[in-house]
Amino acid sequence: VAKNVSLKSAQVAVFDWAEDKVNQIEILKEREKYRREYLGNISHELKTPIFNIQGYILTLLDGAMNDPELCEKYLKRTNKSIDRMINIVNDLDLIAQLESGVLKLKISKFDMYEVVKDVFDQLADKAKARNVKLKFKKNYDRPILVKADQKRIEQLLINLIINAIKYSKPEGGLVEVAFYELPDQIMTEISDDGVGIPQEDLPRIFERFYRVDKSRSRDAGGSGLGLAIVKHIIESHRQSINVRSAEGIGSAFSFTLSKAD
Ligand code: ADP
Repeated sequence: VAKNVSLKSAQVAVFDWAEDKVNQIEILKEREKYRREYLGNISHELKTPIFNIQGYILTLLDGAMNDPELCEKYLKRTNKSIDRMINIVNDLDLIAQLESGVLKLKISKFDMYEVVKDVFDQLADKAKARNVKLKFKKNYDRPILVKADQKRIEQLLINLIINAIKYSKPEGGLVEVAFYELPDQIMTEISDDGVGIPQEDLPRIFERFYRVDKSRSRDAGGSGLGLAIVKHIIESHRQSINVRSAEGIGSAFSFTLSKAD
């Protein structure tokens, strides 16, 4: 009997090991596929501004340089393409840091209202340029105390509010931030009355480099990584984010954070 038992347990161990190995191989294959796709995406994203810059420089060398107006036009375009590359590289850096897990969250207690107000100030010029109003919905008592990594949450708010400004309707719009108190959490909602997101695209917008409207995103200087960063930040806090949207009507992104007392 004893022999059977030990044989059985040995078989179990061998079986476990074999299954583990299959899983490991599957995981490695998945990772490799993901890495390949990721590198492909990055080079594709960087190629566009690089080729554009080359085009502008060739145009300048071809004679445009001698016409002050044309010269300024192509230098401005060159600068815009460089800005785009800087955005992409900065966002890639941030994603790499978030994914590597080397950066531990620095949790502190702070007032969400103050952080949103600060982000509104930082984005005031961008909002004005698109004729967008940034407002608080008056539905809460201050302070709105949460426990989180303040710097990361500021980054998340910048990404969501920049999107709300970028994807506003051409005639301008309204971006509102509201806070809701749940039993243990604070929910922050950023809503806009912009172009909205088609239902079929909603499940994919948090993927890296996924865009509904490529030309609009690129014109607005988007890296296509903003929401992937947002998702990372929320996941690292073990919280959740939700999006509701209707085309032509607007979008609302809401996320939770732990309440502090
Ligand atoms: P991007 O740099 O392209 O804005 P993001 O990851 O921030 O990249 O967003 C992914 C895509 O989701 C955008 O390209 C856009 O199509 C869509 N999107 C995000 N936020 C909004 C919004 N507030 N209104 C409409 N579309 C949005």
